[in-house]
Amino acid sequence: MKKKFDKKVSSISRRDFVGGTLIGSGVALLSALAPRWATAKGGANLPPEFPQSIAAPLNTLDASWTGPGGVGSYAKANGNTHDVVNAAHTFRNRDFDTQLANAEATGEHFDLVIVGAGFAGISAAYTYLKSKPEARILILENHAMFGGEARQNEFEVDGYRLWGPQGSNGAVWPLDGAKKIGMYSDLWAELDLPTELEWQEASNSDLKIPKDIYSPMHLTWEETDLGWFHDETGMAVNPWSNRFRDVPLDDKTKNDLIWMELYRQPQEREDWAQWLDSMTYKEFMKNEMGIDNEFIDEYLNPFAAAMGCGLGTDVISAYQAFNFIQPGVNQYGRQFGIGDPTDYVYLASFPGGNTGILRHLVHRIIPNVFGDAESLTEIISNPVNFAALDGAAQAVKMRLSSLVVNVHHEGPAESAEKVQITYLNDEKMHQVTADRVVMAGQQHLNKRVVTDLPEAYRAAMDEFKHSPMLTVNVALRNWKFMDNMGVASVRWFGDNMGGWFTSLRKQMVLDGEEPMPLDPEKPTVLTLYNSFCTPGLPLHEQTVAARMQLFSLSYADVENEIRSQFTKMFGPGGFDADRDIAGITLNRQGHAYLVTPPGFFFGKDGNPPPSDVIRKPHGRIAFAHSELMGYQMWEGAAHEGDRAAKQMLQI
Ligand SMILES: Cc1cc2nc3c(=O)[nH]c(=O)nc-3n(C[C@H](O)[C@H](O)[C@H](O)COP(=O)(O)OP(=O)(O)OC[C@H]3O[C@@H](n4cnc5c(N)ncnc54)[C@H](O)[C@@H]3O)c2cc1C
Repeated sequence: MKKKFDKKVSSISRRDFVGGTLIGSGVALLSALAPRWATAKGGANLPPEFPQSIAAPLNTLDASWTGPGGVGSYAKANGNTHDVVNAAHTFRNRDFDTQLANAEATGEHFDLVIVGAGFAGISAAYTYLKSKPEARILILENHAMFGGEARQNEFEVDGYRLWGPQGSNGAVWPLDGAKKIGMYSDLWAELDLPTELEWQEASNSDLKIPKDIYSPMHLTWEETDLGWFHDETGMAVNPWSNRFRDVPLDDKTKNDLIWMELYRQPQEREDWAQWLDSMTYKEFMKNEMGIDNEFIDEYLNPFAAAMGCGLGTDVISAYQAFNFIQPGVNQYGRQFGIGDPTDYVYLASFPGGNTGILRHLVHRIIPNVFGDAESLTEIISNPVNFAALDGAAQAVKMRLSSLVVNVHHEGPAESAEKVQITYLNDEKMHQVTADRVVMAGQQHLNKRVVTDLPEAYRAAMDEFKHSPMLTVNVALRNWKFMDNMGVASVRWFGDNMGGWFTSLRKQMVLDGEEPMPLDPEKPTVLTLYNSFCTPGLPLHEQTVAARMQLFSLSYADVENEIRSQFTKMFGPGGFDADRDIAGITLNRQGHAYLVTPPGFFFGKDGNPPPSDVIRKPHGRIAFAHSELMGYQMWEGAAHEGDRAAKQMLQI
């Protein structure tokens, strides 16, 4: 897995991207994606039904772009792999139309077909089966593994099995805190997940190490030994403790940073939520907190984006920033009695993140999917028994690598008795029918797949704009260099594409065992959550530019960037990329997060919010995805799946 570091490759800077075009390094890749729209589909005059399309076919990526996927059951499903991206874009480009017309009926009819095997889709199946245990259900998923944004990477390093999340990482913890802020799902108890957690302690290190990757991103959240790295000055350890003495910032910026954290008294108003939904987070910072500072935006953008807002302060609403506990706006929690959630909750993550929760759900609906797994550890870590997913005799089937390209009622939606579903698997189009369908994917696909949608649904789905994320897991042979430098978490600044933050984390003790070691001499995984913000562009253009950046980066580009960034940051602690990095996996998600501008949550111009429109079933088809909550969390996804299943049980 380890490749020789190509020292000739220069750093890729965020500023190398102008208007979504990569200049310099990586040009060869982009020219392979030359804008075919320019010749075939009328250049800049993109068809109106493709409002979110990127002006390139983007369907000729290959395995070298995806890069290695680690070991184990998730090895062929690290993020949106090239085959998934190629198929999705071929569909978007309408190049499947002829094949679609010649789809072959399998002759199968199901009580329920579910499109998408993320938390929402699997929860829909789980709820449906509770009422109708004999139901015949088919789940179709376009990736080579179930889980959606809740999948994991696995590594084998020097005899240790290691895990890292591909996306979804932690559940709000402790449970009473999660209930207090409305981020709890009854599924936790139903799935017999632990109600008390025990955490490992580090051996041979005195570092303060957090329990989660997210909490230490926020300065005043979980305790950690935090380093701030600037190219000019190197690593400053725990800069908050000495008022940023060792970081190259001017005094005003240092004061703004402190004020941002100390700000406690936002305007009291009855309509605070609607009011926050009427402005961007940047406007809130400027007009309410008196902070108008480029560095503060640079500081907050990747943090807000990675936490779940998808993009930065200039396009997200202040209300969305509140949902993701961002500085300043989080104080509105005090006005309705929940205080500042960062005072009493953090995220608790299984070794592979929320994959651990999702696997418990799959375990309930498909027998033997993890062999004879019974214990928490076995359910989380046993290899997937792929043969158990689609046996001829079983009632609940799951077909992976199956992109659903067409769903419509047989006849008018109000009176039809069946829905027809067509999907691409193994380069062939297959057709099945069902009494009902739950569409559990994102709206950018739903609006193209469901062909008999009324206009109001399409208009509502057009409101859903998505930003991409790149989650990188770096498997290390040891982390002595971090211990030597006195840092467990690191935030870095500047132009580099190699990320912005990473952290060691304690593992929870599972069934009395530590799943991974926590010792500077032993292997571990560092996870990096990368967003792609282009402040200054309108929201839609930012999402397109961001996806162009994501798709333009080859595996080698990112690998080189990480090796070079780690060498700069950790070299003084003794880091050697060739010796210490055991493997790097990239998990790209082109449509990772919903980005919500002002007006999304409470509607604007007298119109209902788009989620209200989409949550109503369209005939025999219901829609479920975490993004309908407006903010994406695992328990919201489960809630939406449960709601959609109950709607379909009424038919
Ligand atoms: C980087 C990242 C970090 C996160 N961290 C956290 C966290 O720490 N805690 C937390 O609670 N939440 C977190 N989340 C959010 C949470 O994990 C997601 O909201 C949730 O997992 C999404 O579940 P879902 O079922 O709504 O959608 P998805 O996971 O998106 O699942 C939908 C599935 O349907 C498939 N699909 C869509 N259309 C089709 C089609 N036409 N044919 C076939 N298949 C289709 C998709 O490919 C996908 O696999 C994170 C998300 C990301 C991206």
